[in-house]
Parts: sequence; structure tokens; C-alpha cells
Amino acid sequence: MVNYWSNITQCLLPEKCFLCQCSHSINAKTGLCFGCASNLPWLQQSCQRCALPLNSTNTLQLCGQCQTKAPAFDACHCLFHYETPVDRLISRFKFNQHLSYSRLLGQLMAEHIKNRYREITLPDMIIPVPLHKSRLRERGFNQAQEVARICARELNLPLETKQCQRDKDTAHQLGLSAIERRRNLRRAFNSKAFPAGARVALVDDVMTTGTTLNELAACLKKVGCQEIHLWCIARAYHL
Ligand SMILES: [Zn+2]
Ligand SMILES: [Zn+2]
Repeated sequence: MVNYWSNITQCLLPEKCFLCQCSHSINAKTGLCFGCASNLPWLQQSCQRCALPLNSTNTLQLCGQCQTKAPAFDACHCLFHYETPVDRLISRFKFNQHLSYSRLLGQLMAEHIKNRYREITLPDMIIPVPLHKSRLRERGFNQAQEVARICARELNLPLETKQCQRDKDTAHQLGLSAIERRRNLRRAFNSKAFPAGARVALVDDVMTTGTTLNELAACLKKVGCQEIHLWCIARAYHL
């Protein structure tokens, strides 16, 4: 009983840093100390459209691929490179549903988004990337939805979890060629119609090739969504 209550208190009022266990300058919302937060692998200069890292000489702020063929989404905000310790945090979160992981990642995303949207109107709603129902059964929760829930509450935006569905289980895309990935994803999602002019933030944990997110964005645009922004915790790009 004592342990139970001390765990609850630790979740509500973090006294020690979630990563290094020190007790100095802890951000009460994220549970990270100042040092650990600044040492995270923040993604600095990246393509405005797909968040691919860019070198500082790129003045257009668009990667070559987005200049040639723009994806179905309109903007992309990824917080981190998919590197240590973010990769470990995300995989622990995926396979060990724990309040402290969703709080940490959701709060970091909300703070990042508040900074990025200082001069831009926030989207009308947040939609977590849906999991196929068999994967949801297997895992017991949708990690994107847990992050999106915290983010929606912090940003005071509606969270829509019933707007769209994943009809095909396409989680295992690694090892497929670009053409195979696109073929595998065809009609993977379906969505209800949107009100005219709807602007949406799609939330996911890791963005890799962007093929899945592009397919979902294309599906949402077909049913009236006007503008789609991706908000992801991390961008992987070596795979
Ligand atoms: Zn720390
Ligand atoms: Zn790009």
C-alpha cells in the first residue's frame, strides 16, 4: 500500500528526473530535469513538409523529395531524431503501457507544438493514427492515442478517435520496397466526411518513410479535410 501511494505521488508530482533520477530543476509537467531535456536529440533544421533533416544551406526548407512530389500532408513537426534515449523511451512505452511515458512524451509534444504555432492558428482537432483492431487487441492500447490525449488536453483541442479507422493490418512494412509499401497500404484506412475547411493534426509516435502517414492523409483529404499537419515524437530516416 505504501509503495502504491508513493508511486502515485511520484507520477503526480515528480521529485526525481525521469531519466537521470536527479532532483534538480525538474519540469513538473514532463518530469525531466533541465539537463536531460536539453540533451535530448532535438531535431533542429528539417523539411517543413516531411521533417527530413536538412543541412543549413537549404534555404527553401524543403527536401528534394518534397520539392519533386509533395506528400498529401501539408506540414510536419517531429520533435526528435529517432536516437538514444528517445528510441528506448518509445519502445518501452509501446510494450509497457505506463502513465509516466505517455505523460512525458505527450507533454514534450505539447510544449514543442506551442512554440511552433506561436504565429500560426492551431488545427481544429487532433486525430491519433489508428491501429488495426487486431494490433490494438495484441498491445492493449494505441500509443499514438495516449500521446494525443495529453497533447489535446494541454492545447485545449478536441481529440477525435472515431473519425477514421485502419481496415488493414499493415504494421510490418520493413523490408518492403517503396512500391510494395504503397501497394500494401492501398485502402488501408477509411474515414467519415469532414466539415468544410477542416484542419487536422495527425499524431503518431515515430515517422519512418512517411508512406503510412501519406496514405492516411490522402484518405482524409478525399473526404473533405482541407489541411493536415503531422505531429510525431521522432523521425527515423536511416532505415
Ligand atoms: Zn535528468
Ligand atoms: Zn520533405
